[in-house]
Amino acid sequence: MTRIYEDRAYQTPQACWWRDTVAPAHPPAMQGDKHTDVAIIGGGFTGLNAALVLADAGRQVTVLDAEHPGWGASGRNGGFCCLGGSKLSGPRIATLFGADQRAEWHAAERAAVDHVATLLADHAIDADVHSEGETMMAHSPGAMHDIRESIEDTRQSYGVTPHVFEASDLPSLGLNGRFYGGMTLPIGFALNPGKYHDGLLKSVMRAGAEVFGQTPATRMRQRGSKWEVTTANGILTAERVVIATNGYSSEDMPTWLRARYLPVQSSIIVTRPITDAEQAAQGWTSAQMCYDSRRLLHYFRLMPDGRFLFGMRGGLRATPRSEAALNARIRKNFEQLLPEWRTIDITHAWSGLVCLMRRLTPFSGPVPDRPGMFASLGYHGNGVAMGSYLGARLADCVLDRPTRGPCPAFLHQPPPRFPLGRYRRALLAPTYAAAALLDRQRRF
Ligand SMILES: Cc1cc2nc3c(=O)[nH]c(=O)nc-3n(C[C@H](O)[C@H](O)[C@H](O)COP(=O)(O)OP(=O)(O)OC[C@H]3O[C@@H](n4cnc5c(N)ncnc54)[C@H](O)[C@@H]3O)c2cc1C
Repeated sequence: MTRIYEDRAYQTPQACWWRDTVAPAHPPAMQGDKHTDVAIIGGGFTGLNAALVLADAGRQVTVLDAEHPGWGASGRNGGFCCLGGSKLSGPRIATLFGADQRAEWHAAERAAVDHVATLLADHAIDADVHSEGETMMAHSPGAMHDIRESIEDTRQSYGVTPHVFEASDLPSLGLNGRFYGGMTLPIGFALNPGKYHDGLLKSVMRAGAEVFGQTPATRMRQRGSKWEVTTANGILTAERVVIATNGYSSEDMPTWLRARYLPVQSSIIVTRPITDAEQAAQGWTSAQMCYDSRRLLHYFRLMPDGRFLFGMRGGLRATPRSEAALNARIRKNFEQLLPEWRTIDITHAWSGLVCLMRRLTPFSGPVPDRPGMFASLGYHGNGVAMGSYLGARLADCVLDRPTRGPCPAFLHQPPPRFPLGRYRRALLAPTYAAAALLDRQRRF
């Protein structure tokens, strides 16, 4: 597998809070040659959601994960089950693909959140759910102005009325930090991604799918109408193959993917449980999941056990030095926004890879010129809902049936390659610098 970050980016996170709440399952490695209807490469939310639909439809399904299922971003994210998945604005989607496609995209965003809620209910998965929708906090007066201006557009896009609040409302909402107001959209909820993944994996196995860990796919080739997936201990022959490797994809698995995706680091810190008195001192007592209006956004939430989760993007290299610098920056930003908690211990800190696409929209559909191969990836750091949903919708494609829910046609368009080939992450430094500059300029 040829990957574009340092080896350290592909190591198991040492201090990921979710792993303390539920031990990841470690299914055995595949041994010997096998035949299956559908081989799924990657055991995160995308792969497992595809597996569940396919197994329920009576297909023989085999999931391979290079490490263990849930080892990738699905086992280490912030647990925001929310709208999103593309970095294009609604108006930009309308310009590029048409107003109907924009409407279908927004419908898919909503359907994605509902999809996860239904899965949790139908499979009795207790994932420590909390938060009534999602709250955006204004990081500057300019951003607050933009929020007020966006109300009608938001209403039209999602068919709900956002609740807009001013800086003076923050204490009464239990959201007292250094913000200029904000807006709550009553769609979405927060969950423990480790527990969601664990419950989903059990359901997938109950449905009859075989799941193997420690089984990297190292080669894929077409033999007649079938695919041969090579692993260390045997060849898996499949009628169809699904690529669900997102930010942990490789340049050569399959070679079609080369330079079509850009992994980006996202990092999270989690505090020790914050006591009621400490919460009252800061004035942050709300269970809302929040993010701020920066381009280089922070995402944060008080979890049911009183721990505070705080995350952001921005790491450029996976080296001990750059990780230490990033952790220090996250800690500093946390203290600036929530100053009463500046002495609270951080007990957990970890990073993972999300996946950007050049067109800033996910790809989900048949892989061009490779009959029988399908892929879904590129959720731009919002794959808890969208990755789950598109995994399930990709299974519809594999089954050759109409998608069971909104799924705009532009998601099937082949993703263009990034410039700079395997050195493309060099594009991130100037992008981050420009974003940081714009974030500072929006302070009227
Ligand atoms: C720190 C962080 C915070 C995030 N926060 C949020 C959030 O709050 N809300 C949200 O919506 N999204 C969030 N995301 C993004 C979200 O987690 C991802 O979009 C989503 O989990 C992607 O799921 P996936 O199944 O497509 O990929 P992954 O979960 O990354 O799984 C890919 C799997 O593929 C396996 N694999 C790779 N290559 C091979 C191979 N050759 N053979 C076999 N297996 C292979 C890997 O081992 C891995 O387990 C966050 C991500 C990170 C890293």
